[in-house]
Amino acid sequence: MFKLMIIGAGGVGTVVAHKAAANPVFDEIVLASRTKSKADAIAQAVGGGRIKTDSVDADEVSQLVELFNKYRPDLVINVALPYQDLTIMDACLECGVNYLDTANYEPKDEAKFEYSWQWAYQDRFKKAGLTAILGCGFDPGMTSIYTAYAAKHHFDEIHYLDIVDCNAGNHGMAFATNFNPEINIREVTQKGRYWENGKWVETEPHEIKKDLTYPEIGQRDSYVIYHEELESLVKNFPTIKRARFWMTFGQEYLTHLRVIQNIGMARIDEIDYNGCKIVPIQFLKAVLPDPKSLGENYTGLTSIGCRIKGIKDGKERTYYIYNNCDHEKAYEETGTQAVSYTTGVPAALGAAMFAKGLWKAPGVFNVEEFDPDPFMAEIGKQGLPFVEKFDVDLEV
Ligand code: NDP
Repeated sequence: MFKLMIIGAGGVGTVVAHKAAANPVFDEIVLASRTKSKADAIAQAVGGGRIKTDSVDADEVSQLVELFNKYRPDLVINVALPYQDLTIMDACLECGVNYLDTANYEPKDEAKFEYSWQWAYQDRFKKAGLTAILGCGFDPGMTSIYTAYAAKHHFDEIHYLDIVDCNAGNHGMAFATNFNPEINIREVTQKGRYWENGKWVETEPHEIKKDLTYPEIGQRDSYVIYHEELESLVKNFPTIKRARFWMTFGQEYLTHLRVIQNIGMARIDEIDYNGCKIVPIQFLKAVLPDPKSLGENYTGLTSIGCRIKGIKDGKERTYYIYNNCDHEKAYEETGTQAVSYTTGVPAALGAAMFAKGLWKAPGVFNVEEFDPDPFMAEIGKQGLPFVEKFDVDLEV
């Protein structure tokens, strides 16, 4: 009897709910979120009475403890926001629940994300005999598992890792973000950072740019940004000499971002507006399109993968592994666009890996620390097939 709980009824939560409901390894599923009506709507779309719903403010450990004691889940998938990672992990420890997420902890009052806060739970999870699986979305998630798979099967040493993330979709809006606007804008307006020869190199935001070619898409302007999986990958694969993360942005998107920053709408501190305290970026989120609503008219592909150079049997080798995902197909299946889809599918499959005892050990783990093989054997059937290319020009 395996009981799964999902926290967060947004775009990613919608996909996790659909995929978990279709997987018989989960006997019971509860979807809890701040606004219960959103969880109810997802449960109804999934149908078959497969998903129970409840409400919770996941910022409050006491509420989470009450919820966990009510349903006694074996594992909780956190697809609320990164702000809630630590409160949910605290409640997991208090109630003996295992944990999985897709984004590392970020304090609300500082636009900074790093694993140190969650890695600090290692001894407590180990002592409690509980598993915490960190970063099981697409990036982090699939990109980390692709790297582990490459290291296991195709390389003796990985030297250069370039993660490339292209969204060539068109949602027809002048400006919208593909996942939670507050988290997304905080991420992409940060300074760039990459790993080279044992240390982090910092760049101005979007300072390094290249035209990269994406399969079935073509050339797109791609920029080096900092992304969280780099931190765990260089630790878990110490032969890496350089690790970078590239993301595509259109000029229109960058212009909007620049304006948002210049006029102060990306600020994360409280300001006084007519006697009312507001945080500009949270106000901006309230007026921007809900990422979940983009799905209906979204066309085109995402293409995310890893371009790797290293050594196998004494010879230099290049390798490119990627998935292309179609926004329209993702919408047909789950009612969400491909960015939510590519995040939710690995999260649901990671939970299934745990439920089957394949990814289970006491402690806190980034996904690349588990055996990638059972996951890679299943991920195509779950909707995210991968393509591998050997000895190709990586362009980076
Ligand atoms: P959404 O904003 O669409 O959904 C977030 C959901 O969490 C909403 O339903 C929201 O409730 C709920 N929520 C927020 N705060 C709380 C709280 N305190 N208590 C309970 N519920 C809460 O975000 P997405 O679905 O786009 O993203 C979800 C997560 O996935 C984020 O952490 C994001 O960083 C991560 N992500 C990871 C990616 C990866 O590849 N690894 C890629 C994309 C996203 P309400 O509806 O009431 O606001």
